[in-house]
Amino acid sequence: MSIVNAKELLMKATREKYAVGAFNITNLILMEAVVEAAVDRKAPLIIQTSVTPAKFLGARVLVAIFRELAQAAPIPICLHLDHCTDVEFCKLCTDAGYTNIMIDASKQAFEENIRQTRAVVDYAHAKGAISVEGELGTVSGVEDQVKVVENEAALCNPAQVVEFVEKTGVDIFAPAIGTAHGVYKTPDPKIDFDRFEKISLLLNGHGVKVPLVVHGGTGLPPATVKRLVALGGAKFNVSTELKYTLIDSVYEYITSHRDEYDPGKIDKAVKASVKEKIYYWIDLLGCAGRAA
Ligand SMILES: [Zn+2]
Repeated sequence: MSIVNAKELLMKATREKYAVGAFNITNLILMEAVVEAAVDRKAPLIIQTSVTPAKFLGARVLVAIFRELAQAAPIPICLHLDHCTDVEFCKLCTDAGYTNIMIDASKQAFEENIRQTRAVVDYAHAKGAISVEGELGTVSGVEDQVKVVENEAALCNPAQVVEFVEKTGVDIFAPAIGTAHGVYKTPDPKIDFDRFEKISLLLNGHGVKVPLVVHGGTGLPPATVKRLVALGGAKFNVSTELKYTLIDSVYEYITSHRDEYDPGKIDKAVKASVKEKIYYWIDLLGCAGRAA
């Protein structure tokens, strides 16, 4: 139906209190799997790539496949570049046709984060309807999750949020609230819900202005996800879980069909396993049937 940017999808999601899954893909089979699953559920979709596959496969190649799949699908779909720390590569992907770009200058000092984020926002907006995601605070790897949650300085400081958003002009915003990349080491990771609520009210308490992103979706307990959606989380990033599913399903298929040499059957097994994960997330986020 339509190629859209993330802001369009997420303004509606925030208003209507559901969230859109942002699923990391590393190859064609994963891209097809997420599109097919979202079409089956009539759900809006954000496909995202990290910088590594965007360089390895080529941003223009990924965009060409994305456009082909999105134009044939009866749902709105966005292609997002995740956690790019390089302003020039953000610009390259904007030119290639990504429809949302994340400039992650969160490890820089506050003023420098603003400067780099502003540079990408100016470039993307000048190109047309390309939206931009910025981050404040550090979304860590799981190795550091507990340390980060207990260290206030690593989380997003609500007192800086309005200034950051106003000075950068960013379209969607990722505050560090204690979620982490990878697989959580505890079944109940510590998340700073109060901080998230405060930020949500600051930005969207009087009309939706800047939708919020939650990183580190893999392994978050369903109750935590639902609570964050209710507090205004509109985009949930899911990456690690899909990489594990890809590798485990390839391994399982090959070990149980060791004398077969038919790559198509491996692809089919991967696609089926990944689609099950996407259905789970779409249902949990409440975005099934929201494509209209
Ligand atoms: Zn992330």
